[in-house]
Amino acid sequence: MSRVARFVLISLAIMAAAWIALLALLPEASRRIGGSAERSPAVKSPPAVGAAGEGAVLAVPIGGVRRHDVRESWGDPRENGLREHHGTDLAAPANTPVLAAAPGTVEKLWTSVAGGTTVYVRSPARNWTYYYAHLSGYAPGLHEGQSVKVGAVLGYVGDTGNAGAGNFHLHFGLTHTTPDQHWYEGMDVDPYPYLAGKALPR
Ligand SMILES: [Zn+2]
Repeated sequence: MSRVARFVLISLAIMAAAWIALLALLPEASRRIGGSAERSPAVKSPPAVGAAGEGAVLAVPIGGVRRHDVRESWGDPRENGLREHHGTDLAAPANTPVLAAAPGTVEKLWTSVAGGTTVYVRSPARNWTYYYAHLSGYAPGLHEGQSVKVGAVLGYVGDTGNAGAGNFHLHFGLTHTTPDQHWYEGMDVDPYPYLAGKALPR
């Protein structure tokens, strides 16, 4: 066999081997591309809103109100400047369902001069209290000790307490607590950035 013939033969053998190898690997490669969404941690979809309670984004507690429509109202003067507003007000028609912004346990159903008909929900780690005020009433069957998922109906938009007659809105408050603190204790935190999409600290 001449050197040229041997070279051609060896080249053909290498090409055949490469082709067989390619055919063998291709299905695996295409499967990997197709399945990347499920397998690669880099492209994992974010956890469901509020799924963990802490470290999650708050849901807007009024259906149909979009994040970018939420307005900052922390620190606004109230009662002729006697006190500052601690919370975010969300205007909505009377009796619009009020939804849990995050999961937790209904810790207190309370009626007060300022808040009117209110709900206090404690986060699973007990380091946040979510406060819903000026409700016209509670969702049927809502009771203390009930665990609620994000989006659960807690009550309905009203004008109870010091909201002002006909000024139908939800007052949403956020309080940072230690796990052993009571529902009325803790440090008020501006909920606006978290309603606007910032992740709630753990
Ligand atoms: Zn308010």
